[in-house]
Amino acid sequence: MSDIAGSLSEVRARIADAARRSGRSADDVLLVTVSKTRSLEEIAEAIDAGARDLGENYVQELVEKQAALAAEGRDDVRWHAIGHLQRNKVRHIAAFCRLIHSLDSTRLADEIQKRVGAAGRTQPVLIEVNVAAETSKFGVSPEAAKPLAEHVAGLGDVELRGLMAMTPYDISVDESRRYFARTREVAEALARDLPDGAMSELSMGMTQDYESAVEEGATMVRVGTAIFGKRRDG
Ligand SMILES: *Cc1c(COP(=O)(O)O)cnc(C)c1O
Repeated sequence: MSDIAGSLSEVRARIADAARRSGRSADDVLLVTVSKTRSLEEIAEAIDAGARDLGENYVQELVEKQAALAAEGRDDVRWHAIGHLQRNKVRHIAAFCRLIHSLDSTRLADEIQKRVGAAGRTQPVLIEVNVAAETSKFGVSPEAAKPLAEHVAGLGDVELRGLMAMTPYDISVDESRRYFARTREVAEALARDLPDGAMSELSMGMTQDYESAVEEGATMVRVGTAIFGKRRDG
């Protein structure tokens, strides 16, 4: 077994254990394999080991990798846009992205609506909430999530599925856990006034804290380093 395959299966086992500790099963948690900065060879190894949901931060990198893998016949991949998204980049991914995790403004929502509406498709999204206001640059405050969610509900082709939370890299697992619990509370409060399913997903947890995220209710975790090793850059 390659290193990547071995790491992937260990991450899966840890997710399954954490899911059981939270009274759920492994199938209730989607692993998004974060492939930013990784080579096509590394990504192909992960795909061969069963990775199907890939997350990228930068639109250009996502688009190039999607095209390169599709050219090799590896188009059974679901792409997730997980980084801060600029409006002028939306048109590049609106055709095929499975989920945008980082919706953070009404103007970005309007742009997504414009692009997917024109393409005759719908786009599932998560609102990125900033529960650690002092330290994260992106995402909306928990208070601003409600008007943004209501705006999205009125758009038609942008489908709200839940929330995404980023935790700062330099905090303890216990602090992360408090942020995850807070994010779940925000989602539960929002769900009361939104259509069914609009708050069914919680994307939270990375290499440093994905197990506690799952214990606190994450339905998706975004893991890169624990699968591929330390990033050389980015
Ligand atoms: C890089 C990144 C991750 C993965 O981080 P690791 O520590 O490598 O697991 C998850 N989410 C976002 C938004 C990222 O930018």
